[in-house]
Amino acid sequence: MKSRKLLIFVILIIVVVVSALTFVYINSRSKDVKYITKIDPVVEKINPECSRTSRLDNKPQYDRALSLILQRIQESIDLDVGTDGETAFNSFPINLVNCIYIKEEDINDESGVEGYFSLDSNEIKNNFFPITVDKDYKEADDVVTALLIAHEMDHVQQFLIGTPMSSRNDCLRAEADAFVTQWEMFGSLSMEEMASVNARIKQNDSLHPQLQMLANMRELLQQYALPACGFMSRDCTKEVLRVQMFKVLFDDAYYKKQCEMQK
Ligand SMILES: [Zn+2]
Repeated sequence: MKSRKLLIFVILIIVVVVSALTFVYINSRSKDVKYITKIDPVVEKINPECSRTSRLDNKPQYDRALSLILQRIQESIDLDVGTDGETAFNSFPINLVNCIYIKEEDINDESGVEGYFSLDSNEIKNNFFPITVDKDYKEADDVVTALLIAHEMDHVQQFLIGTPMSSRNDCLRAEADAFVTQWEMFGSLSMEEMASVNARIKQNDSLHPQLQMLANMRELLQQYALPACGFMSRDCTKEVLRVQMFKVLFDDAYYKKQCEMQK
């Protein structure tokens, strides 16, 4: 009888100890989970990355534009192998195309904005960077779409490397860089693709705003970069274009407004 009481006592002790340990374990687990869910989005924002090796599922027209960007960058890198490592297109690594998701929206903006990448979008995740384009792009040709996406991908890269954006001038500098990238994308097109873009610029009837900006950059290049750099120095040309684009954007009503919150 005595040993039976002892056995019940021991079982009770075991039950109490196991319950206590289970309680402590579950409690510590739920704290962990809370900790992780609270911290994760912040970590992702601070340290985002693009390590995907295959493309996200985009509409065919945007997938073709991303293919074009990938192909032309790869070709320009291949062409430049052995020339001091200077590549024609080094604004972002080519695998960035794998992390781009293109969303359509009726932007309907009088200022002519056609696409954007929102730095504070809560849709941004590692390996997933959404670029929004105006719904009219579903009918644009692949080259024009690629030129717009290349500009926005430069903003994604700025986000990835933590380009400073706190002052108005930082913001305008980042924009100027994105336009230089767009110009480089134009420069890496094939002769035929370039000829068709040039033909459309020449026609000039209701010029697509993306092409209008290319035409403006060409003028800046002829006016400032050619006399200063000649035809050969790519770095010099890029730098002159960057400085001149900064000046253009500084006086541009839309970019003034876009960057005005940064004082
Ligand atoms: Zn931009």
